[in-house]
Amino acid sequence: MTRQNDLLAAAGTTALGAYRPPSLVLERGQGRHVYDLDGTAYLDLSGGVAVTSIGHGHPTLLNAISRQATRLMHASNLFTTEPAVRLAAELRRRTAFPRSFFVNSGTEANETLIKLARRHHFERGDFLRTTIVSSRTGYHGRTLGSLSLTGQARYRIGMEPMAGCVRHVPYNDLDALRAVVGADTAAVVLETIQAEAGIVEAADGYLAGVRRICDEAGALLFLDEVQTGYGRTGRFLSHEWSGAVPDACSVAKGIAGGFPMGAVLAAERLAGGLPPGSHASTFGGNPLACAAALAVLEVFDHEKLVENAESAGRMLRERLDHLVSDAGTPAAVAARGRGLLQGLELADGVDPDAVVAELRARNVLITVVGGRVLRFSPALTITEAELTEGMTTVEKVLGDPPGKPGPR
Ligand code: PMP
Repeated sequence: MTRQNDLLAAAGTTALGAYRPPSLVLERGQGRHVYDLDGTAYLDLSGGVAVTSIGHGHPTLLNAISRQATRLMHASNLFTTEPAVRLAAELRRRTAFPRSFFVNSGTEANETLIKLARRHHFERGDFLRTTIVSSRTGYHGRTLGSLSLTGQARYRIGMEPMAGCVRHVPYNDLDALRAVVGADTAAVVLETIQAEAGIVEAADGYLAGVRRICDEAGALLFLDEVQTGYGRTGRFLSHEWSGAVPDACSVAKGIAGGFPMGAVLAAERLAGGLPPGSHASTFGGNPLACAAALAVLEVFDHEKLVENAESAGRMLRERLDHLVSDAGTPAAVAARGRGLLQGLELADGVDPDAVVAELRARNVLITVVGGRVLRFSPALTITEAELTEGMTTVEKVLGDPPGKPGPR
């Protein structure tokens, strides 16, 4: 038995079991590669699921963390710290959102959005605006409030009842939205690309239409940019592609280079939406996480990572489109997404888990969303050579996919 197998066995007897049994113990990472305990290297095309945007072991991040760790690891919310104030100022400078609130994850950022929506209207004397409208196929996290926004039943089995006053509508359907948004609506909360649903993009004009419907009804528009934000699609925030500006959005995943961190970014009109005492997070705005987040932004600027997400994403998409149109690979039926968040839908009869396992056997890591869509969400630092290497392996595997029944 290797040490890796020992640890995997131990994980099986100690975990509560919410995750599938792990099949790798990762020990270290460098750039776009991670290494397991046996020393095997993998090219990570999932990017730690869209978190390790600047890759692993970036010296700018390491220096910032160690400098901050020697100074101050924590400050309570009775006080603030220089990294927290500087990060808020940086976000104000880079986005349409001058106000921010820091938390520790994506789901917590979305919990904050729900509370912000209701309390904002409450502060204005509009006590009946408590309903939140979200999409039937959206994903917003697993804590109870965010889970209530998350429309898909499969995430809630045995966990009901949900938090109340949430209505779900089909995505990309303005008529259905118009029918439910009204005087009781506090906010509409949507993704610009429904990643977990299988990389489903907002249709042209949809977000602008949603903005109009919200404005007419006096409701707020919030966008969940946890997976799409922070450069991933080739814009700092993905709604910039649409021209529609929300009143607030949630971000997380890559914002602190792997540190657990999330944030709500909000318009000035929401500045009084969470009065003192109305919301809090012990670790939110932690100085170490904020120092990491500042280092991430420094790397974004220095290495032009938002631009790289756009150009590398274009190259990735060309390879995916080629796979879909190539008669030699009937296993791939559709490609969709933006920048470095791309999906490749597999044909019926191709077993996605078997494809993932075969890729891993060839030292490439990837994840599946929406049941049968390979999700490509690598580090924004990925090079052309690495993308070529990864896609060559994907093309080989899909040229003769495992788990496809019958002769080909
Ligand atoms: N919203 C979206 C759009 C997400 O993709 C995710 C995570 N996949 C979340 C919220 C939840 O984030 P976290 O896991 O950090 O709570």
